[in-house]
Amino acid sequence: MELSVKGWAMKCNQVLKLLNDYIDDSLSWPEAKSMEKHLGSCSGCARELQELKSLQLVMRSVGRRPAPEGLDLRMKILASKHTGAWIPAGAINRLKDVLQPFAIPAVSGVVLTGLFSYPCLAFSSQARI
Ligand SMILES: [Zn+2]
Repeated sequence: MELSVKGWAMKCNQVLKLLNDYIDDSLSWPEAKSMEKHLGSCSGCARELQELKSLQLVMRSVGRRPAPEGLDLRMKILASKHTGAWIPAGAINRLKDVLQPFAIPAVSGVVLTGLFSYPCLAFSSQARI
């Protein structure tokens, strides 16, 4: 039985996007067959594949190296500085400007309500005893 891959004819840009997946052997069988068909007839993509494989070999030969000392702390500091940046400082200042005229009367209203209601509450609690 011969599988036809006519419907899967790939173009160079599609092949180049999937080269890493092809090397990692993570393509579906029809995709891999279509890649092989294209790579067999396109010297440019075949050259890209060879260069990518060479680069992969070089990267493997270098191996893993330990991270520089203190990198994790520096990354956490940078992340903490960056987390509050989604609200622009100008927006916060404008919000303060808008809310400040309401804040003083609101706080004074709460304080005055407390002052005037305290004697009433104190009197009513004494009345129960
Ligand atoms: Zn090609």
